[in-house]
Amino acid sequence: MSKIPVGISTCLLGEQVRYDGGHKHSRFCTEVLARHFDFHPTCPEVAAGLGTPRPAVHLREIDNNLRLIDAKGNADHTESMQAVIDQVVPSLGHLRGYILMAKSPSCGMERIKVHNEEGQLIHRDGRGLFAEALMQAYPLLPVEEEGRLHDDQLRENFVERVFAYDDWLQNVVADLSPEALIQFHTRHKFQLLAHNEAIYRTLGPLLADLKCTPLEQIAKQYISGFMAAMACKVSRGAHVNAMQHLMGYLRDSMGDADRQVLTEQIEAYHRGELPLIVPMTLLRMAQRREPVDYVALQQYLSPYPDELGLRNRV
Ligand code: SF4
Repeated sequence: MSKIPVGISTCLLGEQVRYDGGHKHSRFCTEVLARHFDFHPTCPEVAAGLGTPRPAVHLREIDNNLRLIDAKGNADHTESMQAVIDQVVPSLGHLRGYILMAKSPSCGMERIKVHNEEGQLIHRDGRGLFAEALMQAYPLLPVEEEGRLHDDQLRENFVERVFAYDDWLQNVVADLSPEALIQFHTRHKFQLLAHNEAIYRTLGPLLADLKCTPLEQIAKQYISGFMAAMACKVSRGAHVNAMQHLMGYLRDSMGDADRQVLTEQIEAYHRGELPLIVPMTLLRMAQRREPVDYVALQQYLSPYPDELGLRNRV
């Protein structure tokens, strides 16, 4: 299987590009995710010609605009950063996700310190200039900060979104047709149901009549709703609901004893006594024993490679 192209802040790969000449190597990225993701690194500050090592920079709000200024107020790097943004960001449309370094005035996704013209801290709700341009240009792109990937649920959610978005770009956008759109929706129905049942219930009807509106318009509306739904954390109750629905399709292929065990394991998962992988494995075993075509299509059973082990921790 070819690897999925994902953008990343260069320092997370262990490259010594930080202002202090160091790096922020993420072993999870280079040793686990790199088996499935083809990382495309960018260090916006090095690309902007700031050099390594370099004086630390921060954000200052001047005349309602954010500017990238060295922390001692000696140099304004906003124009060179903007030139990097103008050159690099438009070339990132092939990416299926992006992992950013936290706390950076260039790469940070959230809670970045913003100072006033004199360099005094005024709030911590900023976003790095490169991160802001990236997220504005690609609102559907799954983007996450490396630090947040230490949270089991956020990590699992991010990886699941990257794989789903890859499916969308490869199998729908590459050759848009009513069939491709409907097949995508069918493959991801149970994921949608688990992530956000309200959005799930709007997306089906959106595809009910594909003749009355231009297909590109429907596809755009669909994927906006889809990615918004997928960004929602899945509660244990929502997984239970989705698994019970799936169990309904497998009812005939399971004996009474198997059904009883699966029901008990789903309940134990609901109480927080077991990880998701346990009832999910039983569902997959039932499906493997007597395959049901509709269930076989569902990405919910295997949204990403098992070896990532993400469902052992949620
Ligand atoms: S956080 Fe971004 S700008 Fe800073 S060193 Fe890492 S890649 Fe470069």
